[in-house]
Amino acid sequence: MNINWYPGHMKKTKESIQNNLKLVDVIFELIDARIPYSSRNPMIDMIVGDKARVIILNKSDLADSKVNIIWQDFFNKSSIPSVLIDALKGKGIDKLISLSNEVTSEKRLAYAKKGVKNLPIRAMIIGIPNVGKSTLINTLTERRGAKTGNKPGITKSNQWIKTKGNLELLDTPGILWPKFEDQQVGLNLAFTGAIKDEILDVETLALRFIEDMIKIYPELLIDRYKVNLEDKTALEILDSIGRIRGCIVKGGEIDYTKAGNIILDDFRKGNMGRITLELPES
Ligand code: GDP
Repeated sequence: MNINWYPGHMKKTKESIQNNLKLVDVIFELIDARIPYSSRNPMIDMIVGDKARVIILNKSDLADSKVNIIWQDFFNKSSIPSVLIDALKGKGIDKLISLSNEVTSEKRLAYAKKGVKNLPIRAMIIGIPNVGKSTLINTLTERRGAKTGNKPGITKSNQWIKTKGNLELLDTPGILWPKFEDQQVGLNLAFTGAIKDEILDVETLALRFIEDMIKIYPELLIDRYKVNLEDKTALEILDSIGRIRGCIVKGGEIDYTKAGNIILDDFRKGNMGRITLELPES
């Protein structure tokens, strides 16, 4: 989904999410474990306020397992409990449910004193496009092809779906805008496919990706493409990969767009291995 965000749109989204906040006990802030900083909405703390919240690091199956733990600890220390999940395979869901119980325990205890037992926990998923919101709804509710609104942040029907663990989930997630201000953030979002390739041409995007990979996971590039990285520029490496993968046009020239697409696609599918592009301190 490609949404063009403009100020009026963001204001509406914020207001509609804040209206829904009143209906729920806990917010599930969904982010991408490969880019936990870049995939957070810039105004999230202001929007959510002091409502109970769980940070869900999704796509943890694609992210570096050592770095997953670092990010989880980081958020836990910042006083927002976090959980690593794989929404596609349903991993981490039990932990998510137990955390939801923990962060809403006061409210449920208060109701229990009044005689209301097993008060369902009402939750809403929010996050920027492509972090896995619909996938998580489908997994939690064990249904296929959840209808999710195509208008950002606008919940049309406010239907509650019962899920396991005594949760009640708002059927439409809140779709938030991504960060725009920082160039590296924009690149990270484009690498993962959260914002569309049109923002930068594929060749430039792939070159930037290779530059980052040389710094953080050179061995994964070498393993995947059998290239020699020594004293090579990103362009020379893209060239080698294109040659090895047969991305050649008439006259023996390399088709850089095709080669770039191979690399970005490999990253997005996890074919290169598990990769996290950001650490908390950076
Ligand atoms: P939304 O825009 O936030 O609703 O994101 P979607 O639920 O449509 O997911 C975007 C893409 O990420 C889809 O191709 C999903 O299959 C994929 N996806 C979602 N969650 C996971 C996950 O935990 N692991 C992996 N590997 N892929 C996921």
